Amino acid sequence: MKIDNKFPGKDVSQDDLLNKLPLVAKKNPDHHSNFEIAGITFGGKSLPIMAGPNMIESEELIYDIANNVKKSGAHFLRGGAFKPLTFPYRSEKYTETREKGIRWMVDAAKKVGLPIITEVMEERYLPLISSAADILQIGSRNMQNYPLLTACARTGKPIMLKRHYGASLRDWLGAAEYLMVEGNNKVILCERGISTAHTHKATSRYLLDLQVVPAARELTHLPIVVDPSHATFWSAWVEPMTLAAIAAGADGVMLEVHPDPSNAAIDPLQALDYEGFMNLMLKMKKIAVAIDRDIV
Ligand code: PEP
Ligand code: MN
Repeated sequence: MKIDNKFPGKDVSQDDLLNKLPLVAKKNPDHHSNFEIAGITFGGKSLPIMAGPNMIESEELIYDIANNVKKSGAHFLRGGAFKPLTFPYRSEKYTETREKGIRWMVDAAKKVGLPIITEVMEERYLPLISSAADILQIGSRNMQNYPLLTACARTGKPIMLKRHYGASLRDWLGAAEYLMVEGNNKVILCERGISTAHTHKATSRYLLDLQVVPAARELTHLPIVVDPSHATFWSAWVEPMTLAAIAAGADGVMLEVHPDPSNAAIDPLQALDYEGFMNLMLKMKKIAVAIDRDIV
């Protein structure tokens, strides 16, 4: 039987590119978007590095981390105030800092001179978050929360769309189309690990899908960044997979950094300490140069 790729399948068809992904799809093989956010170019020769804690735990902590990652050369401060925590129970440590956290992050970022990326969980906090953040992060779990995508896109703010850990490239690009159809052109894709049977460590929930970087690059003009921290869930694997992500053509990386990773409130196994981040920055620069890119 002839397979007609007009019908939707797991993979992206020619019909999808033409009719379902007209804004996200490349117009020609050399089509690559690049755009500036807070003076930093995404999708250009230089790779933006986003770094910071998983959660904005306290005013002191976010300032210390902001100061440190800035000194090591990060371009954006990451950190969550509104978090998609897996279980509903909270303790003094395992909690969200919400409005307070956003305020602390804004102060810290301003003091050290870094722009901000932070997650949006609910539409009702969009006015607050979009007034604070330079990039709105849509988390893995919300990748297909279409009303949230539409609301975020309508703010006109740049958006980083994390791939759901179970999503095909087709679903991911479809979600990006929801952002672009609202007239928002500053859309960044972020691979952050997928669910598979084998992750090579009991504590690692995901597997970094580096193959999706060149695969996405064939189809879309949007910049593609990689978050090896959430993907590996294991700090010792973060360095090799970050370097591999750059070698694979990622347009930037997001990394979790904490002064005392084992005592981080959330995801203590995956954060790099300050020295680890500084050393990784030096190695990332070497890999970037080897493939004709740079980190400045
Ligand atoms: C995060 O970046 O803090 C986060 C929750 O990531 P993800 O949505 O990829 O799990
Ligand atoms: Mn996390």
